[in-house]
Amino acid sequence: MSARDKQLVLVINAGSSSIKFSLFGAQADPQLVCKGQVEGIFTEPHFCAKNEAGEKLSDTPLPPSGHKNHDAALRYILDWLRGHTDGRSLAVIGHRVVHGGSSFTQPVCVTPEVLAALDETVALAPLHAPHNIMPMRVLAELLPAVPQVACFDTAFHRTQSEAAQLYALPYDFSQQHGIRRYGFHGLSYEYIASVLPAVDASAAKGRTVVAHLGNGASMAGLLAGRCQATTMGFTALEGLMMGTRAGTFDPALVFHCLTHLEMSVEQVSDLVHKQSGLLGVSGISSDMRDLHASDNPRAALAISMFCQHVAREAASLAAAIEGLDALVFTAGIGENDAEVRRRVCQQLAWLGVALDDAANRQRSAAPHRISTADSRVRVYVIPTNEEVMIARHALATAA
Ligand code: AMP
Repeated sequence: MSARDKQLVLVINAGSSSIKFSLFGAQADPQLVCKGQVEGIFTEPHFCAKNEAGEKLSDTPLPPSGHKNHDAALRYILDWLRGHTDGRSLAVIGHRVVHGGSSFTQPVCVTPEVLAALDETVALAPLHAPHNIMPMRVLAELLPAVPQVACFDTAFHRTQSEAAQLYALPYDFSQQHGIRRYGFHGLSYEYIASVLPAVDASAAKGRTVVAHLGNGASMAGLLAGRCQATTMGFTALEGLMMGTRAGTFDPALVFHCLTHLEMSVEQVSDLVHKQSGLLGVSGISSDMRDLHASDNPRAALAISMFCQHVAREAASLAAAIEGLDALVFTAGIGENDAEVRRRVCQQLAWLGVALDDAANRQRSAAPHRISTADSRVRVYVIPTNEEVMIARHALATAA
């Protein structure tokens, strides 16, 4: 047993209104100790935490005053963690960072130079980057002896060819301003690629489309575990329709909204990021569960559109990787929604996808196959785990 085996890895995923954390043992294969979050940071801050078995350790509103910012929420989490580490020290802290810009193509140790370079990425991801970066500065102050590692959701997609990354905009303009298809959810795809060899060794060496279908949704085409194409682009708006994001739409609509409808830039941004997708079409909810529970025809319309978008993108990605050995569903909808999976697979029957209905309806927390024995394309449900991917990166990078 090495000294590290007695230590811990803290994973931080800080968003605009919440800070999520996971604590792992610092082994080569990090095992979860506990996880939790502070949510509603600017409104009604609430803390909850669970142990590795999912049992509640804490579920409490935070005092209304003094916790309505990220800094205070992070300090609360650290204080709480001190009582749950069994005297073990932190070996390293890993951070999820949504955007790595052009410069960050792999996880990096956080230094003052890296922080300065990360500040440059704020323009590329103004909604996420400041929240991802802030905890690094706070933790450098509070725990100066603990190394920190930044892990990027864009990094996995840097293996795409230049042709796959470029938009058909003037080449020099794109180069000068860092405009390209960055792609997101890379830590999720990387995790799936890391477990695929044990699930289907031949697909892991071959052609796989992964559908990360959560509140944010995207898909990626992998060749031998490396990304060749993905649906999200310069920002996490492009591609599939999502909970509240429109996904791909004609960009000229923006000009129309700005000029003819006299909307402000903020109003258009709000429209396409927060009022569209499943919520916008259904008029009911951004949550797929609510749409299934509704008998409103617009809920049915939103579900149909979502399934059609997933099937269309799967076929497009299969073309990008020139074939399809396996299709993997993951994230909230991908892992839990048998009906969405059934409809997507039905639309892909012509590609050689044959679903085993009973296997598709079976619930399991482990990776499992849901296609028939003779399906030309194997179909799997594989639960994703971005946090463990960050813990692995943090340990390897700070070693
Ligand atoms: P994620 O962003 O991966 O946490 O996924 C969150 C989304 O997954 C929710 O907004 C729901 O739309 C969806 N989801 C979670 N559980 C289920 C379920 N049992 N059936 C259908 N959708 C689900």
